[in-house]
Parts: sequence; C-alpha cells; structure tokens
Amino acid sequence: MVNRTMYERGAESSKIREIFAYACERKAQIGSENVFDFSLGNPSVPAPASVRASIERSVAEVDPAVLHGYTPAPGLPAARAAVAASLNRRFGTAYGAQDVFMTVGAAASVSCCLHALVAPGDEVIVIAPYFPEYAVWIENAGATCVEVLADQKTFQIDVDALRAAITERTAAVIIDSPNNPTGAVYTRATLEALAAALQEASAGRDEPIFLISDEPYREVVYGAEVPWVPSIYAPTVVCYSYSKSLSLPGERVGWVLVPDTCADHDRIMAAVAGAARCLGFVCAPALFQRVVIDCVDEPCDVESYARNREVLTRALSEYGYDYVEPDGAFYLWMRALEEDAEAFCARARAYELLPVPSDSFGVPGWVRIGYCVSHETIERSLPAWEALAQSYR
Ligand code: PLP
Repeated sequence: MVNRTMYERGAESSKIREIFAYACERKAQIGSENVFDFSLGNPSVPAPASVRASIERSVAEVDPAVLHGYTPAPGLPAARAAVAASLNRRFGTAYGAQDVFMTVGAAASVSCCLHALVAPGDEVIVIAPYFPEYAVWIENAGATCVEVLADQKTFQIDVDALRAAITERTAAVIIDSPNNPTGAVYTRATLEALAAALQEASAGRDEPIFLISDEPYREVVYGAEVPWVPSIYAPTVVCYSYSKSLSLPGERVGWVLVPDTCADHDRIMAAVAGAARCLGFVCAPALFQRVVIDCVDEPCDVESYARNREVLTRALSEYGYDYVEPDGAFYLWMRALEEDAEAFCARARAYELLPVPSDSFGVPGWVRIGYCVSHETIERSLPAWEALAQSYR
C-alpha cells in the first residue's frame, strides 16, 4: 500500500520548485538572459577557493578507503571539534565536539530537532511568513504547525501574539534569523522578549518550550548584529548548514548544536542521534565534513548580494513598489500590487519576471524575490519591473 501522506507530499510540488521548473522551460524557449528567475535560494556566488583547495588536498592526501568511507554516525570527531571551536571563538562559549552532530544540511538539522523534541499531538509555533518546508517537517513529526503572524511593520516577532498562541501542547518554536522570506534579522530586544515569554510559559512544566534556531543565513547579513540565541534563551538548539554561507547547497552538509548549557543536554543529544538514525540522516557526506574542518572560519562573500540588494531596492522603490528593507539573507519581501499575490505573479510572468507568491509562506498579498542571482539578471530585469508597475496605473 502506498502511504497516502507521502504520496501527497511527493505528488504536490512546492510552489518554489514549480516556478523554477517553469523558468528552466522558458529559458530553453526564449534564452536564459530573457527570463528573470527569482524563485530559488540557490547562491549565485561560487564556493570560495578554499573549498576547492580542501577537496584537492583531501583527494591527494587521504587514503580513498577512508576518504569515502562511513564516518561515525554523528560525524568526524575533528569536524565536530572544528565547529565547536569556531563557535567558541565567535561567541565566547565553551562547546566541545560532543555538543555537535553533523547533518545533511539544515533540512536534516531541523527535522532531527523536531523529531527529538516533539511528540505526536504537540504544537510547534512558526512565525509567518515562514519557510514552507517547516509545515511539512512539523507534520512529519506528528505535530501541528501553529502560525503566528510577524509584526507587519518591522517583521520582527510579535511576542504578544506568540504568547497568546502558546497552549499546554506547545513543545517548540522555530525561528529563522536572518529570515527567509522577509530578510528581517531579529534584534537582541526581540529575542530577549521572546525568551521572557517562553520562560514564563515554561514555568511549572517538566520540560521547557524549546527554541529551534534555524540559522542557514547567519553570515548573510548587511551590517546588522545577529545575536547568539542560546546565550539569550538556554533551551535553544541551533541548526546550521553550509548551503548559503559557503555556497554548497548541493553538497548537503550542516550541523545541530545542543549547547552544553542546555539542561538535559545528554538526553537531547541522544534524541537528536536517535532522530538522525530513524530518519536515515546519519554520516553526513565524508568529503564535505573534511571541507568543514578546513573552511569553518571562511568568511561568507556577501558583496554580490549586497550590490544586488542595493540596485534592486533603489529601482523598485523608484517604480513605486513597497517592500521590507532586508537586513540579511538574499530575499526581498515585496507587497504585490493587487491583493491576490498569485494573480500578481501571473501578470509578472508576462514580463518574464518570476517571483514567488506569498501564499506558500503562509500569508496573502506579498511576493518573495530571491536576489541571489547574477548582477546582470538584476540589471536586465529592471525595465520589466518598471513596466509591470506601469501596468497597474
Ligand atoms: N531553513 C531555511 C530557512 C532555508 O531557507 C533552507 C533552504 O533554503 C533550509 C532550512 C534548508 O537548508 P539546506 O539546503 O541546508 O537543507
């Protein structure tokens, strides 16, 4: 018997993937330079030279049987230690290899944390608009996804609304800062208010409400502070991947950190390991765990994203569009020029513009523009954005 839920999740394609598939088709028809595909969060910046150097060194120096062999389930001890040491240098913490579990990208990190910390029937709060896969992963852990609308002016967490959404079944909250899709970076004040609300709601419980801090865009930031969340709220687990910071989304490597300061650390770490085992996410790619060892402190090259952001936002505001000024990630959250974001995107398609309508992120009336594209694509798309705005006048 085919599992009905799995069939449905496989048969329905994500809106983002659907638009990306259309973009590929359209590029074949009219030339890739004439299609402005803003759908995927695939970094346009190549992986740094140090990644290639690391791969070449490993291939030249490491016995192939070892290089391509299984690693221990939680990862190479040296990779786990390198991640912990890097965090310690940056955040003044005292983590060790035993606090880090290497995973297959942030998708696996968040899924493992959900399975480790949530029981069937529990509720998990997300801040809308939110990364659509959260709903799928929460459902897969047997829990219910509870959406709390972000503050509609600042796109920070609306902590009063979040407090009102907490029930006795609330097991965890997922946050994602710098945020996909809004580009908001949660301030220290926001995170402190969130921590206070969660502490208050956790009082008297056997276990606290956990915070799952999903941080694949931590380094993709344009000057804003990205506070270290576990130092503000102790029952936080951090999910990370090198998909965006090192432009390695196809290589599937990241980690989960269970901070040493988290009460019940050993049980949580064991549950993360159990979840990775049950989900088949053990032994992250061996070659790229070695890349992590070599490149853990490699800075993220945000120059091109910063330039795209600058040129795109200046032009769009000139054409009369309304958007959230992005402090991080490489997405622009822009108001559609009509209530129905799908209808707006359908009209945009006539100008070969392919943003993603907001409905799949849990809210109506907006679009996400992924500006992790070539600068030429940004420049060439501007007349189309202008013509689209004109068509609504
Ligand atoms: N979390 C967020 C907020 C993302 O935007 C993405 C990917 O775009 C992921 C998780 C998944 O990341 P990965 O490709 O490393 O699994």
